[in-house]
Amino acid sequence: MKVHLKQIPPEGLHLEGEEDCLIPELESEGVHCVSPMQYKIDLGVSEGSLWANGSLNQPVELTCVGCLEKFVHDIKVPAFALHTELQGPETVDLRPFMREDILLNLPAHPRCDREGGRVCKATSTTLKRASETEAKREHDWEALDKLKLPK
Ligand SMILES: [Zn+2]
Repeated sequence: MKVHLKQIPPEGLHLEGEEDCLIPELESEGVHCVSPMQYKIDLGVSEGSLWANGSLNQPVELTCVGCLEKFVHDIKVPAFALHTELQGPETVDLRPFMREDILLNLPAHPRCDREGGRVCKATSTTLKRASETEAKREHDWEALDKLKLPK
């Protein structure tokens, strides 16, 4: 999205809307935008610079590193902020700034259970295995204790 500086009144401007996926090239890495990015930002111009702050949300489909299943995750940028010097052109493209913040909030090792909404299959099997091993170990100690008991 581009903003025309002339459209920004002295008291600032509030913008809400949707923008096409800013990270289409991540498709090849398994990050798939499932809907447009939603933004809510306040903009203003002061002393030769443009500032903006607000929040962004980009729903994407990711692949879980645990169970390899696809799941939908909202890449949220709760505190999007920018401050940039105005250097002549009357329009400023906010997309590169938004894109950067979305990339920063993209989980490096996405797990389907990170939001707590579901249980990752990989986690549940690991936990089960761990508790089985634990039970077996206790059993072994019991056997050992019996052996040591002098009778
Ligand atoms: Zn998973």
